[in-house]
Amino acid sequence: MGSFLLVEAISSEEDLILDVSQVTKDMVQLAGGKGANLGELTSIGVRVPPAFILTSKAFKYFLEYNNLFDKIRDTLSSSETSEEASEKIKQLIKNAKMPDKLSSMIYQAYDELSKKVGKEILVAVRSSATAEDIETASFAGQQDTYLNVTKDELIDRIKDVWASLYNARAMEYRKSKGIDDLSILIAVVVQKMVNSRSAGVMFTLHPVTGDEKYIMIESNWGLGESVVGGKVTPDEVLIEKSTLRIVEKKVSNKNIKIVYDKQLKKNVTITLDEKESRLMSITDEEAIELAKLALKIEEHYKRPMDIEWAIDNDLSFPENIFIVQARPETFWSSKRKENKNIAEKSAPIGGKVLVRGLAASPGIAFGKAKIILDIKDPKVHEFQKGEILVTKMTDPDWVPLMKIAGAIITDEGGMTSHAAIVSRELGIPAIVGSREATKIIRDNQEITVDAIRGIVYEGKVLQTSETVSQQAQPSIGIQGISREVLLSLYPVTATKIYMNLGEPDVIDKYLDLPFDGIGLMRIEFIVSEWVRYHPLYLIKIGNAELFVDKLAEGIAKVASAIYPRPVVVRFSDFKTNEYKKLIGGEEFEPDERNPMIGWRGVSRYVSKEYEPAFRLEAKAIRKVREEMGLKNVWVMFPFVRTTWELEKAIKIMEEEGLRRDSDFKVWIMAEVPSVVVLAEEFAKIVDGFSVGSNDLAQLTLGVDRDSELLARMGYYDERDPAVLESIRKLIKAAHKYGKTVSICGQAPSVYPAVVEYLVKAGIDSISVNPDAVINVRRQVASIEQQIILRNLNGKRKNK
Ligand code: PEP
Ligand code: MG
Repeated sequence: MGSFLLVEAISSEEDLILDVSQVTKDMVQLAGGKGANLGELTSIGVRVPPAFILTSKAFKYFLEYNNLFDKIRDTLSSSETSEEASEKIKQLIKNAKMPDKLSSMIYQAYDELSKKVGKEILVAVRSSATAEDIETASFAGQQDTYLNVTKDELIDRIKDVWASLYNARAMEYRKSKGIDDLSILIAVVVQKMVNSRSAGVMFTLHPVTGDEKYIMIESNWGLGESVVGGKVTPDEVLIEKSTLRIVEKKVSNKNIKIVYDKQLKKNVTITLDEKESRLMSITDEEAIELAKLALKIEEHYKRPMDIEWAIDNDLSFPENIFIVQARPETFWSSKRKENKNIAEKSAPIGGKVLVRGLAASPGIAFGKAKIILDIKDPKVHEFQKGEILVTKMTDPDWVPLMKIAGAIITDEGGMTSHAAIVSRELGIPAIVGSREATKIIRDNQEITVDAIRGIVYEGKVLQTSETVSQQAQPSIGIQGISREVLLSLYPVTATKIYMNLGEPDVIDKYLDLPFDGIGLMRIEFIVSEWVRYHPLYLIKIGNAELFVDKLAEGIAKVASAIYPRPVVVRFSDFKTNEYKKLIGGEEFEPDERNPMIGWRGVSRYVSKEYEPAFRLEAKAIRKVREEMGLKNVWVMFPFVRTTWELEKAIKIMEEEGLRRDSDFKVWIMAEVPSVVVLAEEFAKIVDGFSVGSNDLAQLTLGVDRDSELLARMGYYDERDPAVLESIRKLIKAAHKYGKTVSICGQAPSVYPAVVEYLVKAGIDSISVNPDAVINVRRQVASIEQQIILRNLNGKRKNK
């Protein structure tokens, strides 16, 4: 690269520094991607915080002025590692002199920004990668941003941003792509820090239902971080696009705000007093102005957008309303790809609300309500496909009815109740824990169930009468693509992604999902629907084979469909009240005050009463593995409390011909805290654990998992630190003995934060509901990559 050419190129001073209003989207080369975007927004009339851009030419001029091209080239050839070169080059840039011409232009541009406000301002200094480097910048996180920079610090921070081009990771990445480090330049955006009175985000669609007729603004006092980072429940303003009318406003109890503290020179969190906390943080006028800007942005980009905004304290309306960042909205856009019509069919906010509850299985349905309180009610036989089942609570007897229901609403139950789990597996919208649905909804009343938000409306408030399930379905419509090719499109993860399944018949529906096995096969479905009789009753009448055959048949259906991937079959985990409902069960099951913590799981198998039935369960497994050759079937013991009972149960199983070996794994559920406390002892007698977070949360926190009251109060929460810490300890103890840990409770299917925690804690596999398989796999892949990169960087630094 000749210096002669370079000096010529900068002979025009105009494009060393540009005001944001001079930039358009085609100027990525000069202003970088970020600068070009800001310019583009300005050109369509969207207000962004005042800014200027030091172009790539300014950087080139700086390098040339200090003879840095040669020095950098020498450093590159004399350094042994990228880290060494990176450190040296960064120092070269930071120590070099800012040419007088450039520094006076920078200060002049800065003074002009300040003049607009009438006082000396703080600025953000951000890197803006040019076309050649955009990919590296996003891969290597080379997106240095310095906030709250004063005039005195400005030149140094600009140099810091330039130096960031030579981060070791960015250099490594360019090297792997064969890109010459010296061929890359970046621009720098210098932008007024918004002194924000209020800030937040807005979406050009309804973020809950995906309805594109609305703009939703979320707002809090202070900086936008509190809203973007989900630290508060923000105020909400819903605006109809066609009329720019505010159709819904909600003041929330916001509790805190984040502001910049000039003395401490950092952002601080301030607790709001009661009054400010409950005061609407945005006026109607401001909300409507924001909505206008949102419309312009959406029109320009021709897609739903996710926009960060702020209202500046230093300026007056409407000059104080700024857009800070705009990007395509992704959640609904990708959902739409999975289920094209969900947004159009989603519920509007109008309509009379009948009841609310917990949205346990997402989706929307319209239909006739049928109030059925008892499964023996003759009305059951008249129940038509697509009608909406309204009941107190379901249990396994209800499954045949649930299968044909358009939606399910229950009075009782939390997010892990029977109704919730089964509905998710069947892909049927469900609202649980409504408390009073059976009282308020009338029989045969036409209702709309919005199980995305947990609301039941009177009448038809949808545009179509179809049921829309939000369950993810892989895109199997691509003609001529084999399942193998389709599955290879999903990321490979070191942490295995398993799927939970109980209903053998639905396996065909989920075969194209990218799961590595079934991490929990609940057999209660097979027993209540296929066998229907209590096993002890069958023994009594001399027809025990029925139990063994049907159970084997159900398990084999799944195991053969996904062979050779493993199926972890859990021995029966009915509670006494549930067993009692099986035909002939009355005679064998006691009345218990608390069946949830009663005669359940292993305590049954080792009791002289149930042991013969447990032997039938073991016989069924043996039949599948040996007669049918499905060696991919493993077993799992539920509700394990002590090592002695487990040892006893394993012995009975062994007597039935099932011995642990390299292709027959025996797992236990970790759901009673004693298993965590004595994890090392348990690890000595099993091959693996699977965390039953539904029960583990219940028993660790002492919170009835089916109590909708406690769920509403926020007590039932698997993300509680005590639960997470238990899982972490279990993983550590199990790994000490070379045993694996999985999880099959509901938590990772619903909480991305739990997935992240588990992967970072080193879990071996995660088993989720069918609707969560794709997303969890993607999320796990990205967390794993992050861990690998961090480790890589750490090692290099330590060298
Ligand atoms: C659990 O407890 O997390 C679990 C998966 O088992 P179940 O929900 O069947 O009790
Ligand atoms: Mg459990």
